[in-house]
Amino acid sequence: MQIQNYIGGSLINPSSNLFLDNYNPAQGKVYSYIPDSEKEDIEKAYKAAKEAFPSWSKTTREERFRIMMKIADLIEQKHDELALAESIDNGKPVKLAHHVDIPRAASNIRFFATAIMHYASESHDMNGVAINYTLRKPIGVVGCISPWNLPLYLFTWKIAPALAAGNTVVAKPSEVTPMTAYLFSKICIEAGLPEGVLNIVHGLGVKVGAAITEHPGIKAISFTGGTETGKAIAKVAAPMFKKLSLELGGKNPNIIFADCDFENALRTSVMSSFANQGQICLCGSRIFVERPIYEKFKTAFVEKVKKLKVGDPNDASSNLGALVSKDHLEKVLGYIELAKEEGGTILTGGEQIHLDGELKEGNYLAPTVIEGLAFNCRTNQEEIFGPVVTIMPFDTEEEVLTYANSTQYGLAATVWTQDVTKANRVAAQLESGIVWVNCWLVRDLRTPFGGVKSSGVGREGGFNALNFFTEPTNVCIKL
Ligand code: NAD
Repeated sequence: MQIQNYIGGSLINPSSNLFLDNYNPAQGKVYSYIPDSEKEDIEKAYKAAKEAFPSWSKTTREERFRIMMKIADLIEQKHDELALAESIDNGKPVKLAHHVDIPRAASNIRFFATAIMHYASESHDMNGVAINYTLRKPIGVVGCISPWNLPLYLFTWKIAPALAAGNTVVAKPSEVTPMTAYLFSKICIEAGLPEGVLNIVHGLGVKVGAAITEHPGIKAISFTGGTETGKAIAKVAAPMFKKLSLELGGKNPNIIFADCDFENALRTSVMSSFANQGQICLCGSRIFVERPIYEKFKTAFVEKVKKLKVGDPNDASSNLGALVSKDHLEKVLGYIELAKEEGGTILTGGEQIHLDGELKEGNYLAPTVIEGLAFNCRTNQEEIFGPVVTIMPFDTEEEVLTYANSTQYGLAATVWTQDVTKANRVAAQLESGIVWVNCWLVRDLRTPFGGVKSSGVGREGGFNALNFFTEPTNVCIKL
């Protein structure tokens, strides 16, 4: 199967007519081909988006709402096909794609379709002297670049507010997981999205992603991916004074106090450590447990982790599927070796898993728990982004806050305690864009989403995203 670019309303091959291999990570085999696009293809996409902008930006909110709701309906109608495609392309269990990725993609579109209907701008009255009001205008052609871990989920999370606000878009999904973005382009055609409003160009980050970043006509970039890529984008885009939203890496702490609801903390920590093979930017990769319950928690946690089934993503009984690529598997295995060198003890996992038959060459790794590492060693400071967590005890709040805040990252944190005063106190001192108390990954799409420090710049979610994708003009009228 050959994937195509979606430019000017049509599905077309890249200018080079060259294609890259696309792998099925569960089998380690090439199963489709993705356009190896060039700068030239971004130029075509830009021209189509620029041409479409005057009309799309003037389209009524009601009409944008109508088309976007149709897109969301079509995502739901094609739910099974999309979930299977996401699982094959990414290696994630198909049941996860069913419950999380695809429903969330439809919700993203619907959420911003409705949000634009309620989006109002500010007015400031100067006590009879003058009145100010703020116009919020779409920016023009904007760029959206997304990663491989939640492919359609994160792709639509960016595209939806951009389109709802009246912008036209040049978008690039990850070259590692292009399939659902391709299926999404067909959905947009079926829904009657006007030509050129959304353009999807596939290919390598260093070519296609960089061409979006460098393009002088693309005035804003919304990026989700690794911190190093974020730096490369900022270096190019900042001197061009582009608007930038950067959602980057994390190394999230999971803090478990002795007074927690033990069973809930235990059950949720297994999920927050290993969901999507640990490849969610919000996964808690450093578990800190208050000393009085450390041994009890550790024993129960390891016992539960040992029971997780790593297997065929298409089998409903699998808890973990395959890691997204051979390269990524090698990277994660490298970190397990580093942890051993740094004095860590592997309590469970630590090894690649070799399945049989068609899955023989798949990228499987046993969920891994490591103990005995210092809070400031590399394993505890660098993002691994796989099914690997460390666990360590702490004695005081002050100590655990030092551990939690010690990394360059600050995306998400989880706190487990039944003492609401302590929960508030700790949450306020965590250097983190998001803090979950007694839960994990509970998402209200209206809330600000994003990280501090090297985890990013700016916030997505709700009106934050619509503000990002609009340019305010203040009009002051003398009375
Ligand atoms: P990545 O940075 O390698 O790639 C992300 C996207 O950027 C891809 O589409 C890629 O092709 C493109 N890209 C690569 N080089 C580029 C360049 N020079 N210019 C422009 N674009 C370029 O990230 P990844 O490996 O796909 O995803 C994993 C990372 O994403 C992890 O660090 C994870 O924490 C992060 N992530 C963050 C969030 C968040 O919301 N903060 C969410 C999901 C993933």
